[in-house]
Amino acid sequence: MNQVTCRFCNKDFDLKMKAGFFTLKDVKCKESEVEMKTDFFGFKNFKCSVCGKINMQPLTKGYKVIYWIVAVPTTLTTIGFLLEGTLGLSILGMVSVYSLFMDHKYKKELSIKTILE
Ligand SMILES: [Zn+2]
Repeated sequence: MNQVTCRFCNKDFDLKMKAGFFTLKDVKCKESEVEMKTDFFGFKNFKCSVCGKINMQPLTKGYKVIYWIVAVPTTLTTIGFLLEGTLGLSILGMVSVYSLFMDHKYKKELSIKTILE
């Protein structure tokens, strides 16, 4: 039997699956039953019937797999975009420096020409 312990008051609860839901029963007092809830992100949590504090549980394997499947490519894509953005900016920067340099050079030549003329 699975047992869950309250992180705050060390109270033990029996974890049971009931109609698709996890319920926690006080080991000693079988009457008090707490429902295990799942939040938006998939973290299971339960409110301890003894101390009233919310115990957050780590992600279940299913959620973890989904998060990994989503996280890896999106992270890589984000890094890719960032790198591309940096590369794009560097190229833009180099183009600007080159253009300014050439502009300066051409102007110089032009002024020399003007002087020469
Ligand atoms: Zn507690």
